[in-house]
Amino acid sequence: IHPTAVRRPDYITVQSENTIYTNDHITAKYLNRGADVVVSDGQFTVLPTVKPYEFQTTRKVGKTGLMMIGLGGNNGSTLCATIIANRHQIAWHTKEGIQQPNYIGSVLRASTVRIGTEPSTGKEVHVPVSDVLPMVHPNDLVLGGWDISGLPMDKAMERAKVLDYDLQRQVKPHMALLGRPLPSIYYPDFIAANQEARADNVVPGTDKQAHLEHIRADIRRFKAENQLDRVVVFWTANTERYSDIIPGVNDTADNVLAAIKTSHSEVSPSTLFAVAAILEGEPFVNGAPQNTFVPGVIALAEREKSFIGGDDLKSGQTKLKSVLAEFLVNAGIKPLSIASYNHLGNNDGHNLSAEPQFKSKEISKSSVVDDMVDANRLLYKPPAVGATGKAAKGEHPDHIVVIKYVPAVGDSKRAIDEYYSEIFCGGRQTINIFNECEDSLLATPLILDLTILTELLTRVKYRGEGQNDFAPLHSVLSLLSYMCKAPLVKPGTDVVNSLGRQRNALESFLKACIGLEGNSDLLLETRIW
Ligand code: NAD
Repeated sequence: IHPTAVRRPDYITVQSENTIYTNDHITAKYLNRGADVVVSDGQFTVLPTVKPYEFQTTRKVGKTGLMMIGLGGNNGSTLCATIIANRHQIAWHTKEGIQQPNYIGSVLRASTVRIGTEPSTGKEVHVPVSDVLPMVHPNDLVLGGWDISGLPMDKAMERAKVLDYDLQRQVKPHMALLGRPLPSIYYPDFIAANQEARADNVVPGTDKQAHLEHIRADIRRFKAENQLDRVVVFWTANTERYSDIIPGVNDTADNVLAAIKTSHSEVSPSTLFAVAAILEGEPFVNGAPQNTFVPGVIALAEREKSFIGGDDLKSGQTKLKSVLAEFLVNAGIKPLSIASYNHLGNNDGHNLSAEPQFKSKEISKSSVVDDMVDANRLLYKPPAVGATGKAAKGEHPDHIVVIKYVPAVGDSKRAIDEYYSEIFCGGRQTINIFNECEDSLLATPLILDLTILTELLTRVKYRGEGQNDFAPLHSVLSLLSYMCKAPLVKPGTDVVNSLGRQRNALESFLKACIGLEGNSDLLLETRIW
């Protein structure tokens, strides 16, 4: 399946001297407003700042490929089958009636952004997020990738047990055309031992440098054969254990490259794929929780001016947590403990039933409330002066995460969360959430959003005052944070976990690229005479 990606028409035209349209580009001026705050003797002195920038977006949406590592898994096979259903408008029977394919759950395809008000009625005007800038349509993605399991894609879809039978039946011939996933890199030590039976499609040998070259060649071949302008390489394979961070091994770009040359045991398959993509100049997104992006990999991406993003898809429990925790703390209520239990019965759950892989997931799920707590030192005591280590975090709610493998529930994950909070004058509040969802059907649209946004962000350049040339964005695409459980951010900058703030950042950025102001809920005209 090799559809030709066509440039979609621009639905929005901004008429302003700040926004210039040419055949090739949309260029928009943007004033970055902020404030410098000087704290001295408990007094805050605030100096508003304004810095001018310009954004330049290439209008032509290139032909884009998505190469997934873990193609034959639940997410990979579900993504392929649902794109095929959308592409061919395949409807299917369920016990409720006829179901049409759609992209519900995709922020880009199924949610809107407010772009202004209609002058005669004063009513707000909303447009699909995907119409703000030219973006690749999911139906146009060219699909491919690797799996250590060599099951052909139609059979992989059956194995996943995610989609209704009548849909599987109809997409099966199209899935069969995708063939088998490419052989992949398998280092048994990194994923659970219970996955070994799947590993019948592996690149032979133990030479990691040879493996790197092999994967790079796969990416190049896929790009050439499909005449692609861009390939997004996406890890949706099993969660790996954490790699140890070892000085001299994975701490710098050169050390990581040298560690691959000597086939060092702490170089994980996911790191190898990331390095392959970085060296090929193609973006890499990590949809799982492990520390693929060891410091040396981030440094390598920066050096090569390649793009990386991650970590871990934020589909259910953590997404809700990043909303609920913020709601509570911003309401002036003090969460004392957050206790989260999950059980699931798919292959992801099977892999996570091993301790080292669970550990990766636990870490990824754990830091989600940190920034909200740090932002409110009225409720939570600040770190003691001079404190180091764990204590340096200051007061923090108790937070636990438990995951259990229960095969019977299959892909339908259950997440139970208790938020126990202190309220007025010593009172207590307990909120219990029971969240039941088909895991892969929540995750798949996130893979699409991440892929489409990543492709877009490779086409956006910026320049500051006095700079002649436009430059690409920073290698770490933190604008992807909305879809990621443990967002990777530019080294030295703070992680924002609040879902509302992450979405606001994304909307504001897209609007800035066409010369529109960021979101304001001031709505002044509704407040004055
Ligand atoms: P899955 O187990 O069904 O699929 C993973 C696939 O990866 C399998 O087919 C396996 O054979 C393959 N694989 C393992 N190691 C590989 C390697 N080195 N190279 C190539 N292929 C390899 O899992 P899933 O439900 O599709 O989830 C995929 C990943 O996404 C997991 O790490 C999971 O933790 C993460 N994730 C999933 C969700 C969700 O809601 N589904 C949410 C967040 C994160």
